[in-house]
Amino acid sequence: MRALVALLIAALLPAPVFAQDDRPLPRPEEARPEPAPKPVPPPAPPADRDEKAKEQADPPPAPPSEAKESPPPPVASEATPPRDAPKADPAQSTPSDPASKDPADTPAPAEAAPVKPAGPPLHASLREDDFTYSACLLDLTLMGASYEERPAVTDSADPDCGIDRPIQLTSPLPGVEIDGGALMRCDTARHLARWLRDFVRPSAALLPGQPRLVGLVPGSTYQCRATVGNASEKLSEHALGNAFDIAAFRFADGSKVEIAPRQDDGDLTEAFQHAVRGTACLHFSTVLGPGANAAHDNHLHLDIKARKGGFRLCQ
Ligand SMILES: [Zn+2]
Repeated sequence: MRALVALLIAALLPAPVFAQDDRPLPRPEEARPEPAPKPVPPPAPPADRDEKAKEQADPPPAPPSEAKESPPPPVASEATPPRDAPKADPAQSTPSDPASKDPADTPAPAEAAPVKPAGPPLHASLREDDFTYSACLLDLTLMGASYEERPAVTDSADPDCGIDRPIQLTSPLPGVEIDGGALMRCDTARHLARWLRDFVRPSAALLPGQPRLVGLVPGSTYQCRATVGNASEKLSEHALGNAFDIAAFRFADGSKVEIAPRQDDGDLTEAFQHAVRGTACLHFSTVLGPGANAAHDNHLHLDIKARKGGFRLCQ
């Protein structure tokens, strides 16, 4: 019995010893920790989870990456062509620019150069086209004028002088003659005829005895020369067929009204001269007479010179 008791005690003793020795217990736990490394692999599974998570994350990124990749190729492809094109353009533009500049520069001076030296004569710039010329002749005919078409007139003394399509006007209105006739441009003759019809003839009807206008005593007609009465050397409108000078008006009763300085005469002759001189500015762009300068004391200078803004010089 004692032996059994002893055994029991012995058996029991270790138990209390283990119970007392809590420290040794860790030993078996230390032994467990050895397998613990095995459980370490279990932490690996969480790693797998991470990987899964990563994979899950990857898949999303993967598709976007694919999407990105897929779009990039097209974008790249689209970008490439335009890039190539622009590259080609700049390459072409650079060579084309210098090329274009060269031709543009060269022709410009080349064109400007010939134009200046060419310098068509002044009279040629006044040449009427067929329609304008024909219309003018028709106007003269309808007013009852008598005239002849003449060949072009030029002057070796000055290439600017001349009339490209002149007419020899002998009668601007029916029954009104120009002594000796006068060479001029058709438009000059047309203005002269209208002025005589609208103002001179009616004015003459108010003179004593109501004389009928039958003729004009001309001064200068066509003449290649510079202007008279001033220091300038500009070409006279007479040298282009644009001017006509009147020294006197002749009437059917044999009387005349000669252009002369008339001031404070207090008679109808003075009134007539003032009237025709003033109304001439309605038909001609230049009217000069007595008082304008010494050169115009004995005649009326009338011309149709075109000035900027339609300016008229009436003195
Ligand atoms: Zn004149």
